Amino acid sequence: MNDNAPKYVIVGNGFAGTTCAEQLRKADTACSIVLFTDEPYCLYNRISLPPFLRKQLPEAKVMMRDVAWHEKMNIELHLSTRVERIEVSEKAVYANGKGYPYDALLVATGGRPNPSPTPGTGGATNVFNFQYMDDTKAISRQLETAKTAVAIGGSFIAYELAEAFAARGVETHWVQRGPRFLRRMLDEIAGEMIDDAARGDGVHVHYGEELKEAVRSNGVVTKVITTGGLEIPCDCLGIGLGLTINTELLQGTGVEIRTGIVCDDRLETAVKGIFAGGDAAEFFDPTAELYYRMGTWNNAGAHGKVAAANMAGGDVRYHDVPEYSSKLFSEQTITQFGISPEYRTDLEMVRKIDREKKHYRALFFWQNRLAGCVMIGKGNRAGKRKYVDAIKSKQAFAPDEWETMLDWTAD
Ligand SMILES: Cc1cc2nc3c(=O)[nH]c(=O)nc-3n(C[C@H](O)[C@H](O)[C@H](O)COP(=O)(O)OP(=O)(O)OC[C@H]3O[C@@H](n4cnc5c(N)ncnc54)[C@H](O)[C@@H]3O)c2cc1C
Repeated sequence: MNDNAPKYVIVGNGFAGTTCAEQLRKADTACSIVLFTDEPYCLYNRISLPPFLRKQLPEAKVMMRDVAWHEKMNIELHLSTRVERIEVSEKAVYANGKGYPYDALLVATGGRPNPSPTPGTGGATNVFNFQYMDDTKAISRQLETAKTAVAIGGSFIAYELAEAFAARGVETHWVQRGPRFLRRMLDEIAGEMIDDAARGDGVHVHYGEELKEAVRSNGVVTKVITTGGLEIPCDCLGIGLGLTINTELLQGTGVEIRTGIVCDDRLETAVKGIFAGGDAAEFFDPTAELYYRMGTWNNAGAHGKVAAANMAGGDVRYHDVPEYSSKLFSEQTITQFGISPEYRTDLEMVRKIDREKKHYRALFFWQNRLAGCVMIGKGNRAGKRKYVDAIKSKQAFAPDEWETMLDWTAD
């Protein structure tokens, strides 16, 4: 080992952290790379957890890397090892009492799911979050015998839970506090389309409801009671109430924390040599001209690449248009890219709805520039590449052009 070779430390071996490690190694065969995770697994595909839970994909297909790959890449992997603190003055991280020096550090620690706040759910053995491989295995075991299951929450994780419960043949209830799925991103009509798709798969959807209480017996929840007085038998309770970003490591380091770890468009924080990436990063997107967090798979990979280049002394700016695609029950799909009203409230919108085809398309504009898009419906993705290029170009479009842009199809 060459003692003068650069030393890189990465906390978190999700897609952001592992991509960064891989890129660093590809660029430099001599550097040292230390990669930590508090999970017992090498990188696995979090977006494959839902099909794994639905029993449509075996565990082996969810796993993306193994120990042998890390050995071959000469990446020092520490599984089941929590990094406890960062000592900026020493330029070292500490785990199990031992210091690991760095020249550049990436914190890609993601978020941990918020637990259920409902009285009666704490410590119950049939109440689950859905973030990790181990959560997925535990839910899957419970679904083997469950007759009725309840998913709580109005965004993607609760949707994935509801879909998996239904796909496993369990009577499924989906309880949402808001008036529709993704209420900050979708309008009423889009919400109705998703509602149709959920009901089409036999899911009972309850809006404007929260859990008031869980009734339990012998350590398991047997029934939930909502604020509106619904009583639902429950053998499996899935919680999708958002993430708390793992920022604690940065406390006292001088790195700014807002909704996540604040960093610039090179993903470097205000403390030189410390970078952030993936779900944990509140980064500056120069296209949207906005700081935000983006909890998507592609974004984590893009961050891993940008961070690696800059940790090695480069000057690469984030330049992606973040994107998310998902099926929504058997009938629907959603593709969202760029930003939506969830990220800025001063966007203007045009939309096109084809109820017969079950298609919905909304374009969001900011200062006459295309800023983002939501496409719902199978076969409704034409024009996507052109929209992405328009977002990247920052070109201005006069408002009288916006409606016609809804019909863009060329890719
Ligand atoms: C069920 C599910 C379905 C999803 N579906 C989609 C989808 O369809 N499309 C999409 O785009 N995105 C989807 N996502 C989101 C996507 O998976 C994430 O945005 C992405 O995986 C984030 O990667 P990351 O590397 O930033 O963080 P993570 O994958 O969260 O990795 C962070 C790792 O760091 C570890 N860690 C935290 N603190 C420490 C510490 N102090 N020491 C050591 N290790 C630590 C964590 O335990 C974790 O292993 C889904 C997520 C889930 C959970």
